[in-house]
Amino acid sequence: MKFATALLVAIAASAAEAFQANRGIIGTSPTTTSTSSSTQLFIETSSPPIVDTAFDKLVKTNFPGAIANKELVSRVVGLLELKGFTPSNTLLATSVCADELARQLEDDFIDVYGTNFNLGGLSGFPFAGNTGWGAMSAHVPDNGYCLTIHGPHVGITKDGTIGKVERSGIALVDSCCGSAIAASNYLRGITEGSANINPRIQSFSDFQQGAVQELILPFGMRLARAENRMRELPYALYDSQEVMVNDIVNTGKGSIKKGLAILGGIQINTAPDTSDYFHPLRFDYINENGELVENMLPYLR
Ligand SMILES: [Zn+2]
Repeated sequence: MKFATALLVAIAASAAEAFQANRGIIGTSPTTTSTSSSTQLFIETSSPPIVDTAFDKLVKTNFPGAIANKELVSRVVGLLELKGFTPSNTLLATSVCADELARQLEDDFIDVYGTNFNLGGLSGFPFAGNTGWGAMSAHVPDNGYCLTIHGPHVGITKDGTIGKVERSGIALVDSCCGSAIAASNYLRGITEGSANINPRIQSFSDFQQGAVQELILPFGMRLARAENRMRELPYALYDSQEVMVNDIVNTGKGSIKKGLAILGGIQINTAPDTSDYFHPLRFDYINENGELVENMLPYLR
């Protein structure tokens, strides 16, 4: 569990009432009033502040483009507010891994937009599929918006080991993402010729992992040639997930209400007392006609 910090986001006064109606974790700054031309609202996020600048540098050296969760939330919420997204008219949908560490990113956005619709499964693939997307779209408020966040995750330890992370209450510094690493090990066996393709997709007791291992197959040589296989792994998974996400969104784009924002990237999990990070790779705005009208990614860099 990570501790709370206050995040200050400046927004237009027109959205003040909507924010005040939220879940009790957003309140008007005592130094401002809702009748002023602009106001500042405190947004509580559960991510800790960055206090370890050496570790911050270590993360950003290994994952250039990564930004701390608190900064990510600030930028995303501010940008989307300008487009009309408010806590009361926006449904948050996520596709991130089942691992409890992947909840941190969700929690930071749930603090703003409320409880999410879960589209994801192991490794972050959107296993809820077309049916899940259709149900989610129907739950977007009338004339409202959807923010979808998707991506794999990867751990980094305090000493910079990628693919592992310290976990609260567990002495063992464990794999992260375990599903992705299991799939990577399966793929390594095939690439090196010591194993045969056997995705076990028909096994319902473990069909998500079977699907991850099937979906990662095209990336065997990319991972084999990578300078750091554990660093490359989430990016390969992201590229695979993009194919699924695009297919699902294209199939369901007729059900978009006012607008859809898609934030995709790599979630970077760290030890319990340090902030998590996110490397944004996609931040698209799609209008009510299902047309991509703006690439907002440059605003996150
Ligand atoms: Zn995972």
